[in-house]
This record gives sequence, C-alpha cells and structure tokens, in this order.
Amino acid sequence: MSITAIKGMNDILPGEVETWQFLETKAREVFGCFGFSEIRTPAVEKTELFCRSIGETTDIVEKEMYTFADKSDNSLTLRPEGTAPVMRAYIQNKLHALDPVSKLYYMGPMFRYERPQKGRYRQFHQIGAEVIGVEEPKIDAQVLAMLHRYFCQIGIDAVSLQVNSLGCPECRPAYRQQLIAYLDERLASLCAECQRRYQTNPLRALDCKVEGCRQATSDAPAMIDHLCAACDEHFGQVKTHLQALQIPFEINARMVRGLDYYVRTTFELVTDQLGAQNAVAAGGRYDGLVESLGGPALPGIGFAIGVERLVLMLGTDSVSPQGPDLFVAALGDAASDQAFVLMSQLQNSGIRAEMDYQGKSLKAQMRRANKLRARFALILGEDELQSGRAQLKNMADSSQQEVVLETLAAEFARLQI
Ligand code: ATP
Ligand code: MG
Repeated sequence: MSITAIKGMNDILPGEVETWQFLETKAREVFGCFGFSEIRTPAVEKTELFCRSIGETTDIVEKEMYTFADKSDNSLTLRPEGTAPVMRAYIQNKLHALDPVSKLYYMGPMFRYERPQKGRYRQFHQIGAEVIGVEEPKIDAQVLAMLHRYFCQIGIDAVSLQVNSLGCPECRPAYRQQLIAYLDERLASLCAECQRRYQTNPLRALDCKVEGCRQATSDAPAMIDHLCAACDEHFGQVKTHLQALQIPFEINARMVRGLDYYVRTTFELVTDQLGAQNAVAAGGRYDGLVESLGGPALPGIGFAIGVERLVLMLGTDSVSPQGPDLFVAALGDAASDQAFVLMSQLQNSGIRAEMDYQGKSLKAQMRRANKLRARFALILGEDELQSGRAQLKNMADSSQQEVVLETLAAEFARLQI
C-alpha cells in the first residue's frame, strides 16, 4: 500500500499554492507598511516553553500538543502557536537591547492534535504579528488597524472584529472568584468539561459551545464590568482610538482566549461563513508574558491569523496560476534543438518560456500551449530557422506578428509583453 500523509496534515498543491502565496505576499506588504520585520523561529521547542506560557490547564497544553522525547530524552513539542517561540527568541537574542519597541511578524506551520474537520487541522498555518514594549492603547488600535487593513487588502470583508478586555492581575482574580461562585450555583446545568474545569479555568465556560452552558451562563458576570480603574481607562482609550481610525468593532463581553497569558485587550475576527470554525484571527495583550519567560518586564500585544480558514473563505481558485509568457513549438529535430536553446536564452532573460521535450506533433504542442495558458506561442520550422524570423502568435486573439529570433528577448521587453 502506498504511504499517505498524516491525518489532519495537508499538502498544498500547485493551483492552490498561488492563493497561499498571495496571502503571504499581502501580509509582507501590509505589515511592512506598519513597520514590522519578519522573524523565523524553529518548528520545535522545549515543551516547558509552552507549558509555562500557554498555561497547564488550557486545552492546548492539556490535550492538543505534539510532545515527544528526542533520542537524548529531552521533552520537545512541535509549536502549537507562534507567540511563545517569538518571545523566547526575543529574550534569548536580547532584541530589547537593540530597540525598546519591537514589531515582529511570522508565518508558518503550527501543530495541534485536534479532531480534523473543515477549518481545523493538525498541521495548520498562521500569519501572526507581535509588538513588544508599548503599553499605550494606541498600539492596541494600531495592531487592530493593521489586521483590518490586511483583510481589506486580501478582499475578505465578511468578518467582524470583536473586542473585549480580560483585565489584569489586579482585577481578574476577584472577578474570577465571583465567576466561580456563579458557576458553582449552576453546576448541574454545565457540561462535563465545564464542570471539570470550572475551578481551574472558569472563564472557558463563557465561550463553551454547548447550549446548556450558554443558557446557564447567559447572565454571568462579565469581566468588562469588573475592570480596575487602570484597565477600564485603557480599554476606553482603545475604543476611542479604534473609532478615530474608523475601524468597525463590536464588544463581546463573553470572549475569552484559550491561552492563559492574555490580559486587557483581546480580540477575534469572526465569520459566519465557516460553520463552527468561526474565528479567522485572534489575539490580544500579554503584558506579563516576557517577564514570566525570564525576560524584562515588557508589555506585548499580538495576533495570529489562521491561513487555512482564509483560503477556505477565498476559495483555492481565487488566484490563477501564472502560465508561461511564451511556448516555443518546434517542427522536427533540428528545430527542436534550436527551440531548446532559444527557450533557455529567454528563461535567462526573465521570460517565462516553455516547450515540448518529447517530439510531439505540432497539434499536440499547441494543445499543450493552450493547456498551460501560454500568452504567446512561436512556431519554429525549417523556414524560420533559415530566415531567423518567426510569427509570434498571441494566444488570446490569435493575432500574429513577425519577430526576429536573435532579438526576441529584447523584443518581448520592448513590446511589454
Ligand atoms: P478555535 O477556537 O477555532 O479552536 P483557537 O482559539 O484555538 O481557535 P488561536 O490559538 O487563537 O485559535 O489561533 C489563532 C487562529 O488560528 C484561529 O483563529 C484559527 O483561525 C487558527 N487555528 C487555530 N487552531 C487551528 C486548527 N487546528 N486548524 C486550523 N486553524 C486553526
Ligand atoms: Mg482551539
């Protein structure tokens, strides 16, 4: 039996990959305008990094991580998300010493052992960005403005931005106790999962999808009503700045994040086009994270976009593969050898040139030129070899023009074709 890929891990094939390249190119363009630089970190990290940052009682750490022992018995984990590795790299490489403000972005595969379904995979890809060193609410609005701009640029507008504040270590503990007490009174109505974790991770009950839990928590106390003065002021300013930048948003007081490090501003971009997998991007502030990983006490904020979900929304055929500029067809062996050299010269001049290598009939060659969606075709036969001239055929309208073979590359550039 032939070997297949691992369940929940997908190939990205020619024809689909153009959409991926489009999404990546746009991210580089937009993030570059906002002053972000790319950072690339390894796909594997010490397990401890994720346990300490994401939190022991989160779904990711409890059940979704790809953790294994290497040959020296070190516990390693395929990264389930990008923020913790970027912070690890930031601290290890002392990027804070180079610049008090770091704006970084990343793109690449992440791994979570989840039940594969539409929009949910075991290897999936994120495009993410992080700003380290700025606590002011202007940067929250700036990060959201960049996310908004990115979605405008890729042509996805069927998303809504939901924001919330999760408070800080000053105000969250008291709220958390209040929420535990509230859940305690309704324990019988909660699902088994929420019952199990209501003491360790009570906030998760607020975004549980089970109908019973939704009803039982419909009037649960909300963090935004229990913020300390500093968090309240911060959140108020984030909203004001978003309004000033004309970024549409909604407050979602029930939004929580599946990672422990989030404080204050949190957000999600949600869509109703992907069924249960409704979040296409998510993020927030993580002011204590850098310090908790052994770095300086610097604030941070960031987001991650789920690329597979963007591709599902756009459709894999949204960006057509680019065909050759020119297909060189040849009649006979001598012409084929000449066509081979010509094709190579054109390729070296930056022209997308293609030919048939197998001595097929002219009809078959022209069929192939069509199939590849070549913009132009050139037929080389005895006469053309002798005269050094040939007819360049525009495949879209079948119009022809004579060209000199020796100067074809320059001609191509001159005609801007
Ligand atoms: P979800 O609620 O869908 O499980 P999440 O809260 O676990 O998402 P984050 O950790 O915030 O997701 O990751 C940010 C984004 O990455 C998500 O909004 C989503 O678009 C994408 N994402 C997360 N997990 C997966 C997955 N298993 N497969 C595909 N995309 C994913
Ligand atoms: Mg998840």
